[in-house]
Amino acid sequence: MTNPVQDLLDKHGIRYIPSGKDFLTKCFNPDHNDTNPSFRIDQTRGIGHCFSCGFKFNIFKHYGVLSSNLTSVRVAKLKEKINDLKLVSVGLELPKGAKPWNTPYRNVSVQTLKDFEAFYTDFDEDYIDRIVFPIKNILGKTSAFVGRTTLSQGNPRYLIRPSNAQINPYPVVLPKSTKSIVLVEGIFDMLNMWDKGARNVVCVFGTTQLYKDTADKLLPYKVAGVEKVFILFDGDDAGRTASEKTKPLIEACGFTVEVIKLPDDMDPGDLTQEYVDSITEYTK
Ligand SMILES: [Zn+2]
Repeated sequence: MTNPVQDLLDKHGIRYIPSGKDFLTKCFNPDHNDTNPSFRIDQTRGIGHCFSCGFKFNIFKHYGVLSSNLTSVRVAKLKEKINDLKLVSVGLELPKGAKPWNTPYRNVSVQTLKDFEAFYTDFDEDYIDRIVFPIKNILGKTSAFVGRTTLSQGNPRYLIRPSNAQINPYPVVLPKSTKSIVLVEGIFDMLNMWDKGARNVVCVFGTTQLYKDTADKLLPYKVAGVEKVFILFDGDDAGRTASEKTKPLIEACGFTVEVIKLPDDMDPGDLTQEYVDSITEYTK
């Protein structure tokens, strides 16, 4: 992929020298007669700074580049982030005494629970009486655990560890390339549909999760070539309100978005094989 900052410099005939993570150019401040190039522009973010006169700017804003083009900046940023992750990320270790979950749970088969490495433990207080899933980041390393209580009155219903973990849509890497994804609210919505053969379903861990940092959270899918996003939230008021609120946010990230409305009180976690088949066919 070409570098969008470099493209702009080329397009406008600006001479530059690559220098570390920057491009070095003459200062963009019209009042600064810069004989020695002293202006540094970040190669990814396009933020420029003159160390001689202090002038600052953003090259995208400077040339009035549309936000749709900024997606390429985000992609470049993600690639940079992945490279950083590769250097440091080792992933979380399984809690003490973790054993693979070995019975069907909430109509989800053992095979599917195995696919997502569900486990239980009787030795770690946080996770007792919970079915726990490691949440993998884009490199396949565990960045968090989500444990659902197996008790009818268990509180909280879902426990996230570490408690400050940033939970991203999951799975973040899909098993095969696809042009579309289906967003559902909860992990068991995703698991039910996976169990019935859907492979492009992604859970967002709650309807409000995409209100913030939408573009960053959906970026891995964009980089993977996804073009269309179907929103398949619960068939209740909260799900419908969230769908309407989320749709324009996802559209602003350059995806085509379609809301699939479920009948009243129906969740993706309850869908029958026939229903899942029809959604899989529809969202191919
Ligand atoms: Zn300057």
